[in-house]
Amino acid sequence: METGPESHAMTDRLDLKSSFNKAINGRADELERIARDILDHPESGFRETRTSKLVADWFTENGLDVQTGVAKTGVIGTYDTGRPGPHIAVMGELDSLIVPGHSHADPDTGAAHACGHHAQIGSMLTVAVGLLDETVKKGLVGKVSFMAAPAEEYIELEYRESLRENGEIEFFGGKQEFIRLGFFEGVDIAMLTHTGSETAGTFGIGGSNNGMIGKTVQYIGKAAHAGGSPHLGVNALNAAQIGLAAVHAQRETFRDADTVRVHPIITRGGSAVNSVPDDVRIETYVRASNVPAILSTSEKVDRALRAGALATGASVRIQTNPGYLPARYDERLIEVYRHNAASLIGDDNVIDLNHTTGCTDVGDVSQIVSTIQPTANATSGNGHGIDYMVDDYELAVIKAGKAMGLTVIDLLADNGEQGNRIAGSFNAPMTVGEYLSRMRGFRSDKTYEE
Ligand SMILES: [Zn+2]
Repeated sequence: METGPESHAMTDRLDLKSSFNKAINGRADELERIARDILDHPESGFRETRTSKLVADWFTENGLDVQTGVAKTGVIGTYDTGRPGPHIAVMGELDSLIVPGHSHADPDTGAAHACGHHAQIGSMLTVAVGLLDETVKKGLVGKVSFMAAPAEEYIELEYRESLRENGEIEFFGGKQEFIRLGFFEGVDIAMLTHTGSETAGTFGIGGSNNGMIGKTVQYIGKAAHAGGSPHLGVNALNAAQIGLAAVHAQRETFRDADTVRVHPIITRGGSAVNSVPDDVRIETYVRASNVPAILSTSEKVDRALRAGALATGASVRIQTNPGYLPARYDERLIEVYRHNAASLIGDDNVIDLNHTTGCTDVGDVSQIVSTIQPTANATSGNGHGIDYMVDDYELAVIKAGKAMGLTVIDLLADNGEQGNRIAGSFNAPMTVGEYLSRMRGFRSDKTYEE
């Protein structure tokens, strides 16, 4: 049997972990109930007033310091051991999608949790329950910010543009706003567990995500009688169709390695069928695995969209907004998490994720601090579809929270040694200042006259 300071510390840590798990087991029903309550009251980004209040009230009742109204609807609960050490952000997303037809959709707004974010709030609160245990708290240093962030889904662009014009937000993603407002200054490590639909019953870890920018496009033509005098009009819909065909003609130039995704939709196609359309709107993302590919594809898309205007004599306004940066997860932090996740569900049930072509503002966080975004594979149906359901709340809320919280214990126990080592070895691609200037550089608003 080994003795000495190292094995003593290890025993202490195992005691902390068992107290942590026990505290959660006593409140598992409550935590699952909160997630289901949020499922039944979905709210889309920057409109999460009920969800935000629920989280804020819970933080207050459980003795955390609370800040509300962060980035409009965000909430931060602070857990401070009172001893210096690493600062960890445990995050959850407040917002739903808009998927009318989902069985838990709001009948008025069509908002629905078709991406499982309600379970994230549950897993975030699970971490808090375990860490608030008195024995656990005594054994840790540093602090944890529980960040309930609004608006991860990059949707309702016109609404967000109006918030931007009012000065309520600058960026369209909640975590981006948290970064801008300075809440990641001094944060060393960040984590969030998303639900996933890989092999059921597993946790996924690692991988990476595409980044993206968003575009809103307006073709401006000239209305005229569609039957009697179309020669007097300029058809903005024809301009848009040529523009979209020209976008598709770029696809053979996309390199597989860049995992480019461009998927435009027409959000307005004309006003009345007997009038030549004079105002046609398009929204699109330009996604890729790396920023140079996003930028070069963005240029191609703009060039293609202009071709439609040129061909028909319309003009086109192209507004480009910063979207999300590609996500890169920290290998050293992954290994700490992997060990803890395996302690709950077994080695074979912790799987390695590949690159995914979806995007998240966790990507933005990952460019600034050491970050992981594991998945709890607890769902069925298509993500963002009407049939996406969390089936296994024990995995998505309780075990997901335990895996993160046990990782936090490893990082903050023993005087924060492991947390400091990981934070110290993380080579941040950019500082907060560099991040902000890079993001602002993506914004442009250009009108091309015929
Ligand atoms: Zn999501």
